[in-house]
Amino acid sequence: MHQQLIIAPVELNLARYPKQSADELRAWNAADELLLEYAFELSTNLQHILLLNDEFGGLACALLAHPNLRHCQITWLSDSFIAQQALAQNIQANQLNGESINIISSIDVMPQADLVLMRLPKSLNYLEHQLIALQNAMDNASLLVCGVMLKGLPKSVFNLFEKHLGEVNTSLAKKKARLLFSHYQGKCSASRYPKAWTIEEYQWQLNDHANVFCFAKFDIGTRFMLKHLPRGEFASVVDLGCGNGLLGLRALELYPEASVTFADESLMALASAKNNVQLNHPEALNRCEFIHDNALEHQADNSADLVLCNPPFHQQNTISTHIARQMFRDAKRCLRSNGMLAVVANRHLSYQALLKSYFGGYKLLASNNKFVILGCTKR
Ligand code: SAM
Repeated sequence: MHQQLIIAPVELNLARYPKQSADELRAWNAADELLLEYAFELSTNLQHILLLNDEFGGLACALLAHPNLRHCQITWLSDSFIAQQALAQNIQANQLNGESINIISSIDVMPQADLVLMRLPKSLNYLEHQLIALQNAMDNASLLVCGVMLKGLPKSVFNLFEKHLGEVNTSLAKKKARLLFSHYQGKCSASRYPKAWTIEEYQWQLNDHANVFCFAKFDIGTRFMLKHLPRGEFASVVDLGCGNGLLGLRALELYPEASVTFADESLMALASAKNNVQLNHPEALNRCEFIHDNALEHQADNSADLVLCNPPFHQQNTISTHIARQMFRDAKRCLRSNGMLAVVANRHLSYQALLKSYFGGYKLLASNNKFVILGCTKR
């Protein structure tokens, strides 16, 4: 469902990706509106705008549509497959010239820009990584403007800006959003990303990028799942929503003949998973694939024997089951007949009904006081 964003002189029809029904969430928020109002005021003087973490491409589309910004270079940086797809979809829906935008990923080097427009990322580690990277993309004349929603704005955000860039000024609050302004003041920080760490239990050396789930820590749900991976012969295994790839890494050890696909919508997750295979089982790299996708949207039907999944229950800052739903639906489509989906979930999430609706039933493979592991077979 498209909804109309109007900030004079720009009018756009924007939708989230994947498209959702009419009553669901908008593709932009009040922080985006403030960022655009501010950028439009400066528009005649800008040469190069660097856009960071534009959730559904709405910021980029609005800049592309503004008549004063026709000659301004725009670089768009994101970690997210969903954001990239939303950008392409919204550019097309509004008949904008997408060729004039330079799209780069979260692991690329940031180019020099006179204005940096940032949406605050959810992860403070990723924020810190980006602020340190900006030290090479900004000079004394460039300005960083960060759009934030007041809910969930910890003091540590200000501390990170001050530590790595410089003093922070704020705009007045409007519709529960605010802008943070900061200039680069010549600081030079040593980055702690990506970070090396170990899991003694499995004798794994790991190396995680900043924007990965449970950065450099061992999630207790993942730990429980690792102890209860299904035993059997599987030719083709998928680690769905792989994060730093621990489930897939263990699959390489337990199923030495299997090909293992690591899938995630975060590029830093995939890069971490690849680091972690390289560090622990470089000999197995030729039976691994790393795919940037929304669940398994672009993967072949009837192609997997086992899908392992520790599903997220957030999209960005929104708690929701819709990603888990899509993961279960895609897993069913991608599994071969008699193939199995194994899911670890917090007890309170009650995915049982969802799994039953897609697979017709499920088995309790293991449980403790916090988690259940549910197994579903495709018939
Ligand atoms: N499998 C890892 C583990 O057990 O430690 C990570 C699990 S974490 C709870 C969920 C993962 O799903 C995150 O890495 C997140 O980036 C990924 N994710 C979120 N939405 C996704 C989507 N639409 N498609 C693919 N992956 C997604």
